[in-house]
Amino acid sequence: MGYIRPTRLTDAFDALDAGASVIAGGTDWFPARGDRIAPGPMLDVTSLAECRGIAQTLDGWRIGAAVTWSDVIRAKLPSAFDALKAAAREVGSVQIQNVATLVGNICNASPAADGVPPLLALGAEVEVQARAGERRVPLADFITGPRKTTLSAGELVTALHIPNVPEGAVSAFQKLGARRYLVISVAMVAIQLRPTPTGWKDVRIAVGACGPVASRLSALEQRLTGTTAAPRVTASDLVPLSPISDIRGSDGYRLDTVATMIERMLADLS
Ligand SMILES: Cc1cc2nc3c(=O)[nH]c(=O)nc-3n(C[C@H](O)[C@H](O)[C@H](O)COP(=O)(O)OP(=O)(O)OC[C@H]3O[C@@H](n4cnc5c(N)ncnc54)[C@H](O)[C@@H]3O)c2cc1C
Repeated sequence: MGYIRPTRLTDAFDALDAGASVIAGGTDWFPARGDRIAPGPMLDVTSLAECRGIAQTLDGWRIGAAVTWSDVIRAKLPSAFDALKAAAREVGSVQIQNVATLVGNICNASPAADGVPPLLALGAEVEVQARAGERRVPLADFITGPRKTTLSAGELVTALHIPNVPEGAVSAFQKLGARRYLVISVAMVAIQLRPTPTGWKDVRIAVGACGPVASRLSALEQRLTGTTAAPRVTASDLVPLSPISDIRGSDGYRLDTVATMIERMLADLS
């Protein structure tokens, strides 16, 4: 077992070719190993220049793959990022937030990853690099199932891109767990919208832990566009959610919870 922390992408690709496993904060990767010895060297991406920092670009924001939840909490960002900041404060504990990354959260692709709903609401895209070049994938297409992404051998994620957010957009995030802190979500909701004199515009609602992957609620987003009052959320608004029943809650409990969370969050945003 070896540990490599390169500063140049070419050295990272050499490590991937040699069978290295990518880590950032290691807060998902190490617990997943349990007692097993790592299968090969570890490639720590946090010193790669391409993975550092949060920067405003011409078309939005670039969040490097080494950016931690604490970095997001401290960053000066528009109010459309409030949901992402709220999610950051809910991830584990301060110690976890100080080392764990947003990109590690999405690459781990847990259905209960708290970062995914707010990033879906922000319309995030994933910057993937390989020796052959770069590709960008919408986050909604990047995560394909529980613990599954479109990443291939020889590829790593270097950043997230958030397109310019609509002027005046506001957002919120709520997570329900069995206790207040250090808890896996039963369900979580991120909402982004832009209040205008003629009603809400650019409405985006994303829900996590209620299906194999987090999803946007397109029908409800359309129903809310141009309105101003929080409606009663019905079953048809919650398509395509398909929660499982497990030790944390039944499928019906999860759907009821999500409906109530959305109604309350919309009332707060009104
Ligand atoms: C005590 C504890 C509490 C937690 N609480 C929460 C919680 O409340 N909510 C929540 O969502 N999560 C929680 N987690 C899970 C974890 O902390 C987060 O998912 C975190 O954001 C993962 O980031 P990381 O940098 O540590 O990822 P790592 O563990 O380093 O990596 C995770 C996965 O992503 C891959 N990866 C990482 N970076 C890249 C990259 N740049 N390119 C390609 N692949 C990459 C790794 O190979 C690995 O498969 C908790 C974990 C612990 C240990």
